[in-house]
Amino acid sequence: MKCYINFRAVLTSLIIITLSGCNTPPEAESLTYQHSIFSFGTIIDVSLNGVSEDVAEEAFDQLEADFRYMQLTWNPAVSSAIARNNLLIKSTEWFSDAPSVRPLLLEATQLSNASENLFNPAMGKLIKLWGFNSEEHETGIPPDDETIKQLLATRPSMNDLEIKGVQLRSKNPAVSLNFGGFAKGYGIRQEMKMLTDSGIKNAIINAGGDLEAIGRPGNRPWRIGIIHPRKKDTVLAYLDIKGHESVFTSGDYERFFIYENKRYHHIIDPRTGYPAEGVQSVTVIHPDSAVADAAATALFVAGVKDWHRIAKSMGVSYVLLIDENGTAHMNPKMQTRIKFQQPTKTLLSPPLL
Ligand code: ADP
Ligand code: MG
Repeated sequence: MKCYINFRAVLTSLIIITLSGCNTPPEAESLTYQHSIFSFGTIIDVSLNGVSEDVAEEAFDQLEADFRYMQLTWNPAVSSAIARNNLLIKSTEWFSDAPSVRPLLLEATQLSNASENLFNPAMGKLIKLWGFNSEEHETGIPPDDETIKQLLATRPSMNDLEIKGVQLRSKNPAVSLNFGGFAKGYGIRQEMKMLTDSGIKNAIINAGGDLEAIGRPGNRPWRIGIIHPRKKDTVLAYLDIKGHESVFTSGDYERFFIYENKRYHHIIDPRTGYPAEGVQSVTVIHPDSAVADAAATALFVAGVKDWHRIAKSMGVSYVLLIDENGTAHMNPKMQTRIKFQQPTKTLLSPPLL
């Protein structure tokens, strides 16, 4: 099949989007310009449709600069604004916190509360202990139970933080911020706004399967593939984007190791201190990327028993959860959107919203 796409950079195998209508000749619809950026530990593929080459080039340069800035500012593992916050939080004294982190902090607190604290970006110490965010620390051996128990006992929560004007303090010195569960969504939302503010009407920002899309690439909608959690590079299901939407997936196959026949992955249950159990992946559709990102993480932790309640409380109306047996749990609205490509047992929940 001939595809009329201008590639500005080589794309990787991570691409899971079918550019619908790309077998239509270029005179029938405008070109799609693509560019890949490495940020937030993944390849971010951006596609723009219905723009001139100059506009696309300018947008790609801006996206590069913005993603570089955001990744650096919100990475607690390097010398950054968030790392400075974490250092000063330990003192339990008031300090002027970083303005570049404050909006995330406020939004993360709301999302954490709505998730009954299952999305808990205050437990940065526990996340660091597991070491999935840094290659040097990834040992392939779980941390010792005693250290996990000690960190759990300190009960870090976003509600330990107090704000007074430009100042912040934590009542609990054990709080350590880690926005790994939603910074990518927050950043993608910022950048889609930048694109739409500059008049772009058809775009997709895809960070390894977590994405926000607007408009359409020609006559048909953006088509999204959801990866099979246990079959590498296999599409489990498709869905088409309607208007302006985000699709985010949290999976136990993204960052993990196997130790003594057990899988240990990067989504930590704040109630146990261990990787959340019983789920392989959760996919959420939502108008807002930051909410979609936090919700996918929270619903993964919530599991088969609690995902429905937490989805309601976080204002999410489309959920697909693949449990440990490969059964797909979803709400009726999600069922109308999903087209399975693999034989999948499904269980329908009561409606969400
Ligand atoms: P990814 O970033 O791979 O798309 P997620 O959005 O699910 O995956 O986020 C996982 C990351 O979020 C972890 O690597 C860690 O930094 C952080 N994290 C892990 N468990 C939680 C949790 N329960 N609440 C908040 N953040 C978490
Ligand atoms: Mg997330």
